[in-house]
Amino acid sequence: MGIDKDREISGKSPNGSEERGERGLDFVRQIVVEDMQSGRWGGRVATRFPPEPNGYLHIGHAKSICLNYGIAAEFGGQFNLRFDDTNPEKEEQEYVDSIIEDVRWLGADWDDRLFYASDYFQQMYEWAVELIRKGKAYVCDLTGDQVREYRGTLTQPGRESPYRNRTIDENLELFARMCQGEFPDGAKTLRAKIDMAHPNLNMRDPIMYRILHETHHRQGDQWCIYPMYDWAHGFEDSLEGITHSICTLEFENHRPLYDWFIDAVNEGRTDDGSGPWGKKIHHPQQIEFARLSLAYTVMSKRKLLKLVKEGFVRGWDDPRMPTISGLRRRGYSPAAMWSFAKLIGVNKFNSTVDITLLEHCLREDLNQTSPRVMAVLRPLKVIIDNYPQGQVEELDAVNNPEDPAAGTRKVPFSRELYLEQEDFMENPPKKFFRLAPGREVRLRYAYFITCTDVIKDAQGNVVELHCLYDPATRGGDAPDGRKVKATLHWLSAPHARPAEVRLYDNLFTKPDPEDVPEGQEFTANLNPNSLEVLADCYVEPSVAEVAPLTRYQFERLGYFCVDPDSTADKLVFNRTVTLKDTWAKIQQSQQQG
Ligand code: ATP
Ligand code: MG
Repeated sequence: MGIDKDREISGKSPNGSEERGERGLDFVRQIVVEDMQSGRWGGRVATRFPPEPNGYLHIGHAKSICLNYGIAAEFGGQFNLRFDDTNPEKEEQEYVDSIIEDVRWLGADWDDRLFYASDYFQQMYEWAVELIRKGKAYVCDLTGDQVREYRGTLTQPGRESPYRNRTIDENLELFARMCQGEFPDGAKTLRAKIDMAHPNLNMRDPIMYRILHETHHRQGDQWCIYPMYDWAHGFEDSLEGITHSICTLEFENHRPLYDWFIDAVNEGRTDDGSGPWGKKIHHPQQIEFARLSLAYTVMSKRKLLKLVKEGFVRGWDDPRMPTISGLRRRGYSPAAMWSFAKLIGVNKFNSTVDITLLEHCLREDLNQTSPRVMAVLRPLKVIIDNYPQGQVEELDAVNNPEDPAAGTRKVPFSRELYLEQEDFMENPPKKFFRLAPGREVRLRYAYFITCTDVIKDAQGNVVELHCLYDPATRGGDAPDGRKVKATLHWLSAPHARPAEVRLYDNLFTKPDPEDVPEGQEFTANLNPNSLEVLADCYVEPSVAEVAPLTRYQFERLGYFCVDPDSTADKLVFNRTVTLKDTWAKIQQSQQQG
């Protein structure tokens, strides 16, 4: 799949117009406003985020959380967190815990409304019995393969199951026995009796329950029949009084089925409960929006699980993963995720967003909030020959030029320094303005230095420089007004703290990781150079005992964040993102024509 530049950059629709209404609202919020005005839900707004606990959350889920929680917060409504734990096979407590942590970290607040779909199993069972009684559901003995075969295709109608016309009593008895565990897995299903010729395949007598002798993470062995997602999902929203049931586009053609299920339960019910079946149940409005896809990334939980299980990454929270926990460990802030979600907006067509847009949002936030420090990733020893042996000066350095309140700190300067290897060239080409033999540069917050000698090892590698400093340039300015063309970061060698720094690149080499030759898998596109570990780096001494996930800007190098792997002896940093904002560049050049 190719990436459309316009869309990828702006999150706009293919014709360039963002899908925003008169009030500058996206289409979902427009619906909410209209419903508030018409009083459709009695002025109520209730949304939810309904993850299946079968993996860790990813940035796509973050989009959904920002949308659902954002709407509830903006309209004075309620937001629920609900685990859609209807499938016992792949669900685990570890995932539940991680999801709670991630949603909370993003700042979405569900108050005391944390729900589990499995708590509704009994109620769903009763509604299934009700549908049998109403002649709207039947027990079917076809195998999975047969069900598929009978279903027909988009161009051909399906065929009715030979079990479709069982009597209500027979169905009630068989369903009860299914529930009591009398039949093995797959022997029978409960199906809705809708229309085997329906143009929408989802409506061709869909399965409501299957037999599965499997232990559920919360219900234990209480159930051996489990509801299908389509049967369960609408009722979960109904039971919680969800007004705007927001989901991704692929569920658009499931909506008629959700509506059918709720209408089927409501048949024979009335608003005041006087009907033969009692009181009507709440019927939420489903609204579909486009899911987020990011270039150079896979997003499906099945694929992310594969990367973890097969050791392609170090875990769900590997900083290369698009998971919320991975991005957090990488150094992302919740604020950056929210501004990203806002920038891409919501709309009705699927598109792929360029990762540089996400990184742009991140830089905007980190630029405001990250203290600056100096670090050297690939150290080159420098001796200042005319600086007094044993002398140490404490020089003032600005903590954050974007935030005057952040103040200054002291950085030590001494005779032995580390500079960045790449800031020196013995034979510099024309456009290289940094340090070279005989050339003068500024050391940030410190002095001008001039390189006088280059020491090499037996292989001819530069291992040490000798320089002279100009004491009159203390603080980084020459009183005689002479200029230098470069300002370098540096560290005092005896004061510097050792660190490991992990540099990251895209996990995949292609914008669309699924783009593989016949017979290969997306893992064929993994980037072998997605992680580079620099074991012998240094940071300035002000970065002492710092908590994991603390963020810094390393001057001239990018944004970095303390990794939980850090020990008392050695700090470990992840490079969150470099300083170069390619998205802003593209935007500028587009504006210029
Ligand atoms: P995946 O396809 O990645 O496995 P899923 O849709 O099966 O995800 P759920 O746990 O069912 O994962 O998702 C919970 C909610 O998050 C759903 O409401 C779903 O619509 C939304 N969601 C999932 N993926 C995305 C995405 N890429 N962009 C936006 N919303 C998403
Ligand atoms: Mg799902």
